[in-house]
This record gives sequence, C-alpha cells and structure tokens, in this order.
Amino acid sequence: MTIHRQEIRSQRETRVQVPAPRPGPEPQAAAPPAQSAARPVPIPSPPRTGHRVLVYKQDPSVTELGVRLAFLPFVVLNGPADARVRIELPGVTPVARNVSGDFVFEAGTPEFDCAHTFAVVRQAMAMFERHNGGEPIPFAWNTDGNTEPITVFPHAATGANAFYSRTAQALKFLFFTPQGAPAETVVHTCRSFDIVAHETGHALLDGLKPGWLSAGNPPQTGGLHESFGDLTAIFLALAQPDQADALVALTKGNLHDKSFLADLAEEFGKALGMPAGLRNADNDLKLSEVGNEVHAISQVFTGAVYDVLADVYAFEMNRQRRTKDPALVLIEVASALCGLVFEAIVASPARGARYADVANEMLRISADRGNPAIYRTFIRNRFAVREITTAVTPLDDLMSGQMRMADAGYTGNGQDATEVEPFDERSASLRAEQDRSRCCGTMQMPEYEFVAPERLAERGALEDDDILREDIEALRRAFGK
Ligand SMILES: [Zn+2]
Repeated sequence: MTIHRQEIRSQRETRVQVPAPRPGPEPQAAAPPAQSAARPVPIPSPPRTGHRVLVYKQDPSVTELGVRLAFLPFVVLNGPADARVRIELPGVTPVARNVSGDFVFEAGTPEFDCAHTFAVVRQAMAMFERHNGGEPIPFAWNTDGNTEPITVFPHAATGANAFYSRTAQALKFLFFTPQGAPAETVVHTCRSFDIVAHETGHALLDGLKPGWLSAGNPPQTGGLHESFGDLTAIFLALAQPDQADALVALTKGNLHDKSFLADLAEEFGKALGMPAGLRNADNDLKLSEVGNEVHAISQVFTGAVYDVLADVYAFEMNRQRRTKDPALVLIEVASALCGLVFEAIVASPARGARYADVANEMLRISADRGNPAIYRTFIRNRFAVREITTAVTPLDDLMSGQMRMADAGYTGNGQDATEVEPFDERSASLRAEQDRSRCCGTMQMPEYEFVAPERLAERGALEDDDILREDIEALRRAFGK
C-alpha cells in the first residue's frame, strides 16, 4: 500500500515537472523517451468539456437542500447557451463563464437565475435523452432539418405563472409578490427546480406527442401532459444522487413519508397559501373524485405512478438491502420507472390518449423487459385502486395490507395480465370538455385551445395566425363583400 502511494506521488511529481502534451496531431510521437520511462502508465486526461453551475436543488424555501454545485458534462457557451437551449434576460444575458469556465454566481442575482434555469432545463432534457437511447428529443418545431433551440426567459414578466409556448418556441418564467407580503418579497418561478422541470416536461412532451396539448382531446390526455411535467420534476430529483441520498435519510426510505420529493413547487405553493406545495404527488385521489378538471385529473395519474415507485422501491430494498446502498437502489428504481413511463408514453396513441393506454403500455413493456411479475402487480393495483382501470386481480390483498411484498412472482391470483380495461368508459375524465382553469400557464395558452388538434398533431412551428385563423377568415369574408 505504501509503495503504491509512493508510486502515485512520484507520478504526480513527474507530471508537475513535465509540461502537459499539447493537443496536436501526434502528441505521443512528440514526447521525449526519458519522460515516458518515468511515467509508465499514462495519467488519463480529464474530460475536455463540462462546466460547474450553482443551482437550487429544490427552491429557496427548501433549506435542507439549499444551493449546490452541479456539473454539466458538455460545452456551454456564454449565455448560457448551447445548440438546444438559450437563455434570454435583457440587460443581463449573455452571462459569461468565470475564469474556471464555470457558471457560478451568488444566489439571488440575475446571473444566478440565468445559470440555474439553464442547468435545470438541460438536466431534464439529458435525463429523457438517456431514456431515448442517447438520441436528442426534438422540439415540436424541429422538423425537416430545423434545429432551432428553445429560448428560456427566467424573468419573463410579472405574474404567478410559468409556461411553455410552441408559438414563441419558448419557456417563460414569471415572478410575483405574494398577496399581503412586503413589496420587496419576490417569488421567482425560475428558482424552483420543480417548476422549471415541469415546464421543460411540457416542451419535451409536445415534441414527442404534438397532438396531446390540444384542448380538443379528452380531459385525461390533458391530465397526462400536466402529470408528465410533475413526474419530470420527481424523476429528475431522483436522478441526482445527492437528492436521492438526502431523501432516503429524511424519510428513512419510506417514500410515503412527507418530503420535498412529493411536495411540488414548495415556495410557489406557500406563497399561494398551500403549505405542502402547489400539489402533492403522494395523494389518494380517484378519478370519480376529480370530474373534468385537468389539474386534479393529472394528480390521479401522478399519484398512481408515485405509488408504483414506492412499491417497487420497497420490493427492491428488501431484495437488495444486504448488497447495495439504499440511495443507490432508489436511483436505479426511479431511473427504470422513468424509462418505463417514457417508453409507455411514446408508444401511446397520437391523439386522445387515455390513462389506461399508458398503463397497458407500461404493463407490456415491463413484461418485455423481463421485470419480476410483482412489478406488474404493483402497476395493475395502483391504477385499479384509483379507478383508472378495472381490477384484473382482486384488490383485497392491497386494501388489507396483505401484499406479499418480497415475493417477486406475486400476482394476487396467478394471472400476470398485461392488458386492462378502463374502469369507467363514461367517466367525465374521458368524455367531458377539458376544464383547464387550475392548470399551469402552458395549459391555458390560446394556441392549444384554438389551433385545430389536427394542425397541432402535425408538428412544426406555429404562428399567431394559426391561433387567429377563424377570426382572420371571418374578417376576410366580411371585407371581401
Ligand atoms: Zn403544466
């Protein structure tokens, strides 16, 4: 051991004395033989690209996580900007890297907000690209060779809101002073990891499923959009080892314990008088309790997926507790479930997708992956208990706490069904008009209300004229007389 340390030290000393080889066509040939002899094993050079960024891990109100350094392992230009995302804050951007090539600024400054927002958008994109086989996910306008990036406005305007717009090819984060608070109290939605991840989720899903944002779909399709945003925030938190580790310690590994994970947009929620955040993924809502209100409907789907996450984690912790760190098990379980949901959504219908469609794709893909049968029992149970699907297997074991959580082959009644039916075809969540009144800004954009669903589903850039099409045609008729 001592000898080994000495060797390393001597290698390091040698490295200090010898100038680093210059990048060039033949760096090996240029090195003198004597130096090669002193350093028989080459020291790997560090990756050439990447930048440190200081970010809020949740938001300014979640002090147990606070502000931390994140590493973005790719080239980021001053802006920050890269080929997919650019930040726009008049009078501030482009924000320049510091002498170390990093975007590290004091929290609360506009420069920090630019760097933080860029980092979270980019991390959310990177997470889904990993589940997309490493391939980039196009924005809705990236068709026929169009490579235009999305523009992100961290301080877009005043208001208690944030949104994604295909027309503007933008993510816009607003800021506001909560009612009754002193004027100097300003809540910036861009400082919320959850809100930035949520809106990025809308943008990515609009690229994957361009027809889903249209208000002409059933309420459940709208619910899938809102839920995908919230699930993006949850899975992105669990894709970060420090957050997963903090969560395991905070909850002692029980995902149903109250935590920053299930509480979404904490600071924003508190400012609006909701102490548990804007919404809670760990809820017990059923479809019969939510009517056609899309925001509430979305919580039913998010809650079902969150319960599956907690179930699979409990099963895998039991299976791997002697061989793996609990935080590592959580990171792996969350990543696998994120990939499953992502693939299931991609495989679901282009128009009018229902929760049962996604649940069935999850069951099918889980079986294709060779997951233990109990994974599909969890999926079937959690979607059934929320009245999304019919119960193929009786729910008695689930409801009485008799699930055999450690039995990989457990199905309840011996059937490992991979196809289930919607619980109630006449549910308002499938047949009524979408009520988006309590959704985020994205769902309230006129472009998704007034542009024909067929036009949205086509993909491609949108113009204001697309939104005003009916009015303009009426004017043409009136003025043509
Ligand atoms: Zn939303």
